[in-house]
Amino acid sequence: MKILVTGGAGFIGSAVVRHVIGHTQDSVVNLDKLTYAGNLESLLSVADDARYAFEQVDICDRAALDRVFAEHQPDAVMHLAAESHVDRSIDGPAAFIETNIVGTYTLLEATRQYWNQLDDVRKAEFRFHHISTDEVYGDLEGTDDLFTETTSYSPSSPYSASKASSDHLVRAWQRTYGLPTLVTNCSNNYGPYHFPEKLIPLMILNALDGKALPVYGNGMQIRDWLYVEDHARALYKVVTEGEVGETYNIGGHNEKANIEVVQTICALLEELVPTKPEGVAHYQDLITYVTDRPGHDVRYAIDASKIAAELGWKPEETFESGIRKTVEWYLNNEAWWSRVLDGSYSGERLGQA
Ligand code: NAD
Repeated sequence: MKILVTGGAGFIGSAVVRHVIGHTQDSVVNLDKLTYAGNLESLLSVADDARYAFEQVDICDRAALDRVFAEHQPDAVMHLAAESHVDRSIDGPAAFIETNIVGTYTLLEATRQYWNQLDDVRKAEFRFHHISTDEVYGDLEGTDDLFTETTSYSPSSPYSASKASSDHLVRAWQRTYGLPTLVTNCSNNYGPYHFPEKLIPLMILNALDGKALPVYGNGMQIRDWLYVEDHARALYKVVTEGEVGETYNIGGHNEKANIEVVQTICALLEELVPTKPEGVAHYQDLITYVTDRPGHDVRYAIDASKIAAELGWKPEETFESGIRKTVEWYLNNEAWWSRVLDGSYSGERLGQA
C-alpha cells in the first residue's frame, strides 16, 4: 500500500511516517507545506528509505495536489496537515480557516477526482482518513463524563471550530459522494519531536534553562494524555482495518491536571539532571501562574472503548512510562530542539510564523 500522509513533517505526522516505514512494508508520500511546525529533521531516520518520498506542497494548492495524486497513485490518504496550536488560533485565526477548512475541502476535492477514475477494485479499497481532535467536543463539566463518538460538537476555540468544520466536510463527502472516509478524534499527544511551544516540551526546556514555567490560571485544566507512538499505531490500525464511514475516538486513559504534568516533569528532572541552572534550588520553584487563556476548556476525557473493542487497539505506554521516555528524549536530543529554538531547522522560520 502507498499512503499519502499530509502534514508528515509535523509532530504526529512524522511519528506516523516513522511508524509506517519502520514497522510495515508500506510506502509513504509525505505531503507538507513546511510551515513553522514542519520539520524534516524529525524524519532523518527514514529520509533515505526507498519507500519514502517528500513533496513540499500546500493542501490549498489544487493544481499541485492533482499532480501529486497523478504521479504517486496512492491507495490511501492520512490527512494530518493542519494549523494546530490553540494560542496561535486566538492570536490569528485566518491561517486556521485557510488550512483546516479550505485546505481540507481542497484535498477532499482532489482526492474525489482521483478516486473517481480508479478501477473498481482500487476504488473499493481506497481510504481517506481524517485525523482530528477531541477538542471538537468542547469541554466536560462532570468528573465522570467522557467523550464518545456520539457526543455532540461544541468547539470553543478558533482551532477546535476549524477542526470541527473539517470533520463535517469529511463526513459529508462520504455521505454525498461515497468517498470511503474514516475520522479519528484524539486526545492530547506528547512525546519525541514535539514542537517546543507546546506544554510538555516547553516546560522541559524552560526548566533546563532556569526559565519560568508558565501555567495558565490555576493549572487545574484536565487533559487526557496519549504517547504519540501509541497514536501512530492506532491511526495505522484505523486506516488499514477501520470500517468506512466510522469515527473512532483515541485516548490514553491518562487524565492529568496541567499542574500535575508540570510537577511530574520537575520531579523527573530533579532525578535525571540534579545539577540545576544557577540560582535554582528546585525546578518546582520555577512554576509561575499566568492569566488564563480566553475560552480555556476545563476538562477533556476520551472514551476509547470502541477502537479497543472493534480494532483491538490500546495504548502501550502509561503516562508515567511515556513522560519519562519523553524527558529522556529531550535530554538526549539537544541537536534537534536547539535547531528549532534558534530557527535553523528545516521548517518556515519561527519569526515569520
Ligand atoms: P503540527 O502542527 O505539529 O504539524 C502540522 C503539520 O502540517 C506541519 O508539518 C505543517 O508544516 C503542516 N501543514 C500546515 N499547514 C499546511 C498546509 N496548508 N499544507 C500542507 N501542510 C501543512 O500538528 P500535530 O500536533 O502533528 O497534529 C497533526 C494533526 O493531528 C492535526 O490535524 C491536529 O489537529 C491533530 N491532533 C493533534 C493533537 C495533538 O495533541 N497534537 C491531538 C489530536 C489531534
